[in-house]
Amino acid sequence: METLTTISPVFDVENIRESFPILNRELNDKRLVYFDNAATSQKPQVVIDALVNYYSYYNANIHRGIHTLAEEATAAYELTRVTVRKFINAAFPEEIIFTRGATEGINLVAYTWGRKNINAGDEIIISGMEHHSNIVPWQILCEEKKSVLKIIPVTENGELDLDSYKNLLSAKTKLVSVVHASNSLGTINPVKEIIDAAHRIGVPVMIDGAQSAVHLDIDVQKMDCDFFVFSGHKVYGPTGVGVLYGKKEILENMPPFMGGGEMIKEVTFEKTIYNNLPYKYEAGTPNIADTVALRSALDFINETGKNSIRKHENDLLKYATAQLEALPGLRIIGTAKEKVSVVSFVIKNMHPQDIGVILDQQGIAVRTGHHCTQPVMDYFRIPGTVRASFAMYNTKEEIDKLVIGLQKAIEMLS
Ligand code: PMP
Repeated sequence: METLTTISPVFDVENIRESFPILNRELNDKRLVYFDNAATSQKPQVVIDALVNYYSYYNANIHRGIHTLAEEATAAYELTRVTVRKFINAAFPEEIIFTRGATEGINLVAYTWGRKNINAGDEIIISGMEHHSNIVPWQILCEEKKSVLKIIPVTENGELDLDSYKNLLSAKTKLVSVVHASNSLGTINPVKEIIDAAHRIGVPVMIDGAQSAVHLDIDVQKMDCDFFVFSGHKVYGPTGVGVLYGKKEILENMPPFMGGGEMIKEVTFEKTIYNNLPYKYEAGTPNIADTVALRSALDFINETGKNSIRKHENDLLKYATAQLEALPGLRIIGTAKEKVSVVSFVIKNMHPQDIGVILDQQGIAVRTGHHCTQPVMDYFRIPGTVRASFAMYNTKEEIDKLVIGLQKAIEMLS
C-alpha cells in the first residue's frame, strides 16, 4: 500500500536567487548585495509577471462591470483577499481590507475607530520602539481629542519592559498599539502576552506587523489581536498595497474612512447607506494590479515554506551577529533574545551615513539613519545606526562581503 508523506520544500538559496532578477545587477562592477530588506524586499519574477499579465490581458475596473475583463479582474482581486485571509489565518475574508500599506492601515483605525471611541482624558498605549507610522497617527488623534499617549519603556537590550506595560494599563486605557517586530532593533515582541493583558481589562489591541508578516507565522485568531496591519512591499510584493485586518464585529461598528464610490450601497442627497465589509473601507478604484500581484508574492512565500525561510534567515542572523561583533569598535543596537533577521549597529567615532556610502561603493545596500524610529535612537543616545536586514535570498558569502566592506570603512574612516 502506498503511504503519503508530507514533503517539506527543499530550501535551495541559489535556486531562490534565480527567481529575483534584480540580484543579477552589478553596482560599481560588483554584484549587488541587497541588505535593505526591512525597508523593502526585492520582487520575484512571478510578482513582476503578475503585474505585466494583469495590464497585458485583463486590465479592467472591478466589481461594477459585467464584461469578461471586469469579471476576471474582480476574481483575481478577490482571490488575493482569500489568500491573505489564509496567510494570517483570519476567520473571514471580509476582515481583510486592502490599503496602501501599513501606514494607511494604522491611520484608518485612528481616523475611524479612534475618532469614535477615544475621548478627552482617555489613554492610548504604544511602545518606545514604534515606527513613526505607529506614533504620529495617535498623536494627531490625541491632540484632537485631548487624550494621552502612554509609552511602554524599552530596556537596554531593546526589549519591552512588560512590568511597566502592565502598570500602564488602567481604566483610562482605550487602545494598545504595538509593533510585532521592530524595524530598527529586530526585537520580536511577546504580542500574545501584551494582548492578553489588555483584553483582561477589555482593551482592544492593534499589532503593527510591517516587519513580522514576512518572517513569522501569523495567526490573528490565535494571537487574538483586534487589528493587524502589514505592507505588500515588505513581503516580496508590490509597493502601494497593504492589508488591514480587523475583527469583523469591530469593523462593522466603525464609521467609514473615506467616502466615495464602492463603499456605498445607496446614495441620495439626504442619506447614504454604506456598503458591507470589506468594501465599506475601500472607497474608489483600488490598486487592482498591485493587489493581484500580492497574491503571487504570498504564494511564492508559501511555496518556499515560511519555516524553511525563517530557519535560513535565523542562520544568517546568527552568522552576521558573530562576524560583526568581532569588528573593532562595533556595537550592536538591539540584542533581544528573540529577533527577526535585522542587525543594527554603530561603529565608534564613525557616522552611520559615511559607513553606508563606503558600503554602497562596494555594491552593498544597507540602510543608515534613524529608520523612522527616532525615539529609539534618542533612547540609545545615537544619531542613527547602520542596518543590515536579511531576506530569503541572502547568503553567508554576502555577509562576508559586508564584513570586508566594514573593515575597509574602518580603515578609511579611522
Ligand atoms: N511599521 C514598521 C515597523 C515598519 O518597519 C514600517 C516600514 N518601514 C511601517 C510601519 C510603515 O510601512 P509602510 O511605509 O509600508 O506603510
